[in-house]
Amino acid sequence: MEYQDYYKVLGVARDASAKEIKSAYRKLTKKFHPDVNKGDANAEAKYRQINEAYEVLGDPEKRAKYDQFGSQWEQYQKMGGNPFGGGAQSINLEDLLRQFGGGGQSTGGRSGRSSFFDILFGNMGGSHFGGGSGSFSGGSPFGNANPFGGGNPFGGGSPFGGDPRQSMASKGKDLECSTSISVAEAYKGTTRTITIERVSDCPVCGGRGSKQSAPCGSCFGSGKVRLPRKIDVRIPAGINSGKKMRVRGEGEPGLNGGENGDMFLTVNIADDSRFTIKGKNVECELWISLYDALFGGSVDFVTPSGSTIALKIKEGTQNGTRMKLAGLGLPDAKEKGDLYVRLMVKLPLPLSEEDAKAFKALAKR
Ligand SMILES: [Zn+2]
Repeated sequence: MEYQDYYKVLGVARDASAKEIKSAYRKLTKKFHPDVNKGDANAEAKYRQINEAYEVLGDPEKRAKYDQFGSQWEQYQKMGGNPFGGGAQSINLEDLLRQFGGGGQSTGGRSGRSSFFDILFGNMGGSHFGGGSGSFSGGSPFGNANPFGGGNPFGGGSPFGGDPRQSMASKGKDLECSTSISVAEAYKGTTRTITIERVSDCPVCGGRGSKQSAPCGSCFGSGKVRLPRKIDVRIPAGINSGKKMRVRGEGEPGLNGGENGDMFLTVNIADDSRFTIKGKNVECELWISLYDALFGGSVDFVTPSGSTIALKIKEGTQNGTRMKLAGLGLPDAKEKGDLYVRLMVKLPLPLSEEDAKAFKALAKR
């Protein structure tokens, strides 16, 4: 039994949109179509794989089930390949699926698809390859669900059965996302509302997997679907760009009473027209007049956090002088960064006739 990475088959990201999936599918089927690869067994196999991947990822409900299953699968693999302890036996996929209320028996490839597909989805839905789906598919009294295999809510394999392997608690999968904040927000701290999809109880059947003793068509009897969820995340002042924040308990739900996974939010500070972030230090340029540079003066300066301060310019400041404003960098939790201001001298252009005369006189001396 081999796990099929349908996202990999179509070459799309796990969070690809329906449109992206469709376009990837179209491109690949053109390339591997049997008509243009006559007699090439590899291309034919690839073509079948692509169609199988699209049958799942192109259907929101199947995709949700697959995503849910995929996350469980990864979890078990992380636990050392054998989730059920003892011996060197490999994971029993049927057990795994039964544990979260889906799946069924392998139908022996009758559908022309991989046995992974058959176990996960039973024989539901039509075949892309025509025929070969045997007498069990179609005309099922339960609609989509194959009463002899996938998603059978009536048969054995109850998640509440006496099997001790089924009560093993495990932590839910972690989820990742990212957001961007402005420099001013980095100084003051801010809040972002993050919308993230995660496995939730099916709203149609309330997570029971069945409605009026028929399997729920919305979640295919698994009781679980992927739903978007909004989470308010407080981003503290002084966060460094690219920092990953852990939001506890906002990942995928745990299994059998296990704790939820966490959400990791990467916070990037957006490029700013004035300020450049260098770790906890910040850099910028400030234009000053020729006269302030020559004779000294005071210039209004708006800091990254938005307040205005009077910046003292020393007499005889050269163009490009770097001025350090200690403690005005990003306010890190431990120590404050510094702000470096590069002073740029602006010529008083255009010159008036009088000024031009004066400067020319100076130049001749
Ligand atoms: Zn449901």
